[in-house]
Amino acid sequence: MTTSRVSPFDWSVLQVVHRLGTPPQQTLAEQVGRQRSTVNGAVQRLLAAGWLRRVGQAVRGRGRPAILLAVNEDAGCFAGVEIAARELHCAVVAADGTLLDHAASRLADDTSCEVVLEQADLHLRGLLSRRGLGVERLLGIWAGVNGVVDENGVVVTSAALGWHDEPVRSRLAKLYQCDVLVEGASAATSAAAEAVLGVGRHAGSFVYYHAGRGISARLIRQGQPLVGATQRAGELGHVVVAPGGTRCPCGNRGCLEAEASGPAIVAALRRLQRDGLPDDLRRLLRPNADAEPEEIIGAAFSRAKRGAGDPLRNTRQRVTQYLAMGAAMAVAAYDPELLVLGGYLFERSMTLRNDVCRALRRMVLDWEDRNLEVAQGQVVMHDRAVGGAAKVCQRFWANPRAVLTGS
Ligand SMILES: [Zn+2]
Repeated sequence: MTTSRVSPFDWSVLQVVHRLGTPPQQTLAEQVGRQRSTVNGAVQRLLAAGWLRRVGQAVRGRGRPAILLAVNEDAGCFAGVEIAARELHCAVVAADGTLLDHAASRLADDTSCEVVLEQADLHLRGLLSRRGLGVERLLGIWAGVNGVVDENGVVVTSAALGWHDEPVRSRLAKLYQCDVLVEGASAATSAAAEAVLGVGRHAGSFVYYHAGRGISARLIRQGQPLVGATQRAGELGHVVVAPGGTRCPCGNRGCLEAEASGPAIVAALRRLQRDGLPDDLRRLLRPNADAEPEEIIGAAFSRAKRGAGDPLRNTRQRVTQYLAMGAAMAVAAYDPELLVLGGYLFERSMTLRNDVCRALRRMVLDWEDRNLEVAQGQVVMHDRAVGGAAKVCQRFWANPRAVLTGS
């Protein structure tokens, strides 16, 4: 899309059109707070450069019919790529934020960064070409990687993919010459996606309780997360729930995450006497077995036997109590209308989910009066790719000129 003929002021006119949807051209001057002739000049340049289009006329009173303007959805597009442990999900949205398409594929056996980005590139080009688009039309791309990502878009580590210090943002920027945002797998992204696309989209307020690699409870009100004074609102993971308990990487003992996060449960299972455990679980627990935590935990908890002496049952009961304590704290603190359960512990183990819900009822005061709805999160990986594409789209519209000129 041509940007050379578009003047700095024109971008603010474009932003206003985007915000209003299909405004009549006559009202723009008022909205922007400038002379009508100035604004009309900007509209002409934006129409010529392909950023705006005329969508029709609105007849109002006896005056001349008003010309309606809209952002040209073909002016460019945004992409989201979610790189999970075994799969790749891509989504493309138009310039105005409309979802165009999404698709998924399995990752190749070679999960090196070069190979995965090449596969993502092929996948994305395929998706774009189905819409008659090319990668040169991308205005922004979001990549979500299952791992820890620093503020420069470097994947510091991804255990699932075997990556260390991979500069994903700079590689994608070189490849696509557009705005790039790289983020780790985060509960905050999932909570935001639940608010837009998932089970939370009709709720005025809800708490997203996440239990996987970490444990957190985020309050979303009117689609916006409560972040707190230092962006730590809802980080329950390092509240001590078992004083003197298991040592936590943070230095304390008995943190919620040290007792009930995915890695903590796997560590606890590895400390059990192997002799009494089922054969397949023993195989999964071998240090070189290369099994995912969710696989190990699913196998262990589904094999817990009735009766007090079973070590798997004891582990499951202990984890259930701690996870329910975390949820009870969140319900007491926020008093939400809906509690959404997310993260792999809840996604992969229905038994654990049901156990936690039962325990929660007993821990929350006035359970019946609250009328609290508890629901399993619905957002799956392709939604995160869609959410990511929407995120770079929002970032563009917050300041189109800065995104296009990199200033
Ligand atoms: Zn801790």
